[in-house]
Amino acid sequence: MGIKDVFQVLIIGAGVTGLSLAIELLRRGITIRIIDSAHAHFSGSRGKGIQPRSLELLNMMGIATDVLKCGTLYPHLKFHIGPLSIKGWSLGTHDAPSEARPFPNLIMLEQWRTEEILRKKVQNLGGEIELGTGIEALTQTDDQVIVTLTTGETVRAEYAVACDGGRSTTRGFLGLQLLGAAVDQKTSIVADMEVEGLDRKYWHAYPFRGAGLRSLAPLPAGGLFQLQATDDISLKGLANGVQKLTGKKVGHIAWQSRYRHQARMVERYRVGRVFIAGDAAHIHPPSGAQGLNTGLQDACNLGWKLVSALRTGNDSILKTYEAERRPVAADMLGLTAKLHTSTSKSRGDLTNQLGLNYRGSSLALGNAPGTLMPGDRMPDQFLSNGIKLFDVMQHGGATQIMRPNRDHILIRPDGYIAEFVSREVNLYYGHNVVKVDE
Ligand SMILES: Cc1cc2nc3c(=O)[nH]c(=O)nc-3n(C[C@H](O)[C@H](O)[C@H](O)COP(=O)(O)OP(=O)(O)OC[C@H]3O[C@@H](n4cnc5c(N)ncnc54)[C@H](O)[C@@H]3O)c2cc1C
Repeated sequence: MGIKDVFQVLIIGAGVTGLSLAIELLRRGITIRIIDSAHAHFSGSRGKGIQPRSLELLNMMGIATDVLKCGTLYPHLKFHIGPLSIKGWSLGTHDAPSEARPFPNLIMLEQWRTEEILRKKVQNLGGEIELGTGIEALTQTDDQVIVTLTTGETVRAEYAVACDGGRSTTRGFLGLQLLGAAVDQKTSIVADMEVEGLDRKYWHAYPFRGAGLRSLAPLPAGGLFQLQATDDISLKGLANGVQKLTGKKVGHIAWQSRYRHQARMVERYRVGRVFIAGDAAHIHPPSGAQGLNTGLQDACNLGWKLVSALRTGNDSILKTYEAERRPVAADMLGLTAKLHTSTSKSRGDLTNQLGLNYRGSSLALGNAPGTLMPGDRMPDQFLSNGIKLFDVMQHGGATQIMRPNRDHILIRPDGYIAEFVSREVNLYYGHNVVKVDE
């Protein structure tokens, strides 16, 4: 097969990171191809916790309501210790929305359903996910990335982004390594299963039977529970193991997998015209529900910057992707490693990612007149016309809140404050600036 026309961005991997990036680019008019080496879409519940900050970004994509419609709040834990069953806390908050935080809670949704919602949005925007298509070779010139696909086709793109997960092949082509260490020597099991008669109101935890914690969380769809077991129930003996644990009969097992607890990340997020995002760039224990959310936020950070570079021909802004996102991943590795071994109940602000900021970034300019600083997440608010700021921010560009007698707030396309500024700004790194009255 021959070389097809050059398009703007090749996305390698159609998990949550790749799909989110596809939406961020397509909704701003960029031409993409998105490939995935798998022959079928992912079918497991794996990354089931969606954090409040991700919901805000999904709202900008216009799909937060789909996630909320399908998802549930995190239920309370119930600890089963010998003959005793004790009700515990919830790992998620159950707060009422406020003006500034319209999505205050961690939402449980099976990863395959989150991907389905993202995929539908990609398709509505005209994107097509090419399954059964991996990469076999990758080279670069000064202005192109040239990739040989496993289908035999050679494609050329102006940029490529590796979103191909923890076992990323692209990472190898880029000469990058995941540096770090194992957090736990044991492997763990995750599986989606029916457990007949187990109360679906609770997340059941079995702390002292065998080594480590085993738990069964009621998933929103299909009457299934997600098993996570940190010790060795063999995959072959899964039904028996869970039956012994719960005293209940195990029915259909819809999906199962093994995983290891590691805290590792790459040393660079960019090699030439190729970027790396999501699990391809950082892997860590699932405690604290951070991985999928961090991948989604990598994509939202990189997306509008790639658009800027492609629209203006000036790619200097792309340096800020690694500068802003690598420290976030490094902190997250530390946090999840700590949560993996801790019995702490507290989550909420520690893990909801609403406090993440880019205050130290070269894109955070000038001084702040109040407590909000350049680089902070812009909170939601009702504007004078009765519309919510977060709904206005769905337009995809930058936003400026015009304030009489005070500096106006310039907000980046990904919802972080760029600057408090007295002048009107019409163009922000190639993005139109929509003005709204406070
Ligand atoms: C038990 C468990 C529970 C978890 N719970 C949570 C949670 O509650 N919240 C949370 O935020 N995170 C959680 N995570 C982490 C989360 O699942 C991952 O961080 C998330 O899947 C990363 O998304 P991704 O798109 O970067 O990578 P992936 O989901 O791995 O997707 C990568 C995609 O790339 C494709 N691919 C691979 N190689 C190639 C190639 N060579 N060419 C083309 N395509 C390729 C794959 O088929 C796949 O579709 C959990 C993880 C585990 C194991």
